[in-house]
Amino acid sequence: MKFISNNSFFAKLQVEQSKPFVIAGPCSAESEEQVMETAQALQQQGIKLFRAGIWKPRTRPGSFEGVGEKGLAWLKRVKQELGLMVTTEVATGKHVEEALKYNIDVLWIGARTTVNPFAVQEIADALKGVQVPVMIKNPINPDLALWIGAIERIYTTGITDLAAIHRGFSSYGESKYRNTPLWQIPIELKARFQNMPLIIDPSHIGGKRELIFPITQKALDLGYDGMIIESHPRPDFALSDAAQQVTPAALKDILDRLQVRKPKY
Ligand code: PEP
Ligand code: MN
Repeated sequence: MKFISNNSFFAKLQVEQSKPFVIAGPCSAESEEQVMETAQALQQQGIKLFRAGIWKPRTRPGSFEGVGEKGLAWLKRVKQELGLMVTTEVATGKHVEEALKYNIDVLWIGARTTVNPFAVQEIADALKGVQVPVMIKNPINPDLALWIGAIERIYTTGITDLAAIHRGFSSYGESKYRNTPLWQIPIELKARFQNMPLIIDPSHIGGKRELIFPITQKALDLGYDGMIIESHPRPDFALSDAAQQVTPAALKDILDRLQVRKPKY
């Protein structure tokens, strides 16, 4: 299949934010106050696209599984009162329908969903006839074909505003990273889908806040187009992914230190 993307949404985001673009917000929407407080701080730093998970795919039961549909109303408030665009994760056709009802600007497909062609197809079916930008995370296992297949399934619906998010790959045993980056895989993806923006997710690759800067700098050196970084006003008390979230002020410090050098490829 020949992949053609006009990428008007992400191209505009790059222009507005001066490449590379930054998507930021908490791992999970936890309360209306936490969402508004984070969004306000990020808006003041020039962030244009706010992320927050409403439906959280957790590895084991018993963890915080997201606030569900009521969180969509909070994201709508972020749009209306702060003028930010918003993005959330969808894992089922029903999630897509609910997110679209609330005019969520951008959807993303999580790593545990990309891995399952039935789930991706269900999302694709719910997206038929709709134009909404979609970001597709790599599958949790290092399988380039599954990542490509998920992109193809969404592209086949007619959606051309697509982006790929590199969030690293699961491995067994101790490692410096929560999810090993395996940089070669996204580079191969990028070679195949040349016009598609590639976004680094240093929060989920590193699993700890100290690793956000070096992972993002490496991605920028490789020519990545944007980044998605988890930010929470009180990271240590976050209900999910506490160790990898940074305050909006710490995010600003990271962004200020990042350098855009000439890409290596
Ligand atoms: C997330 O973005 O919070 C998330 C659940 O990510 P992933 O699908 O990469 O694990
Ligand atoms: Mn997370």
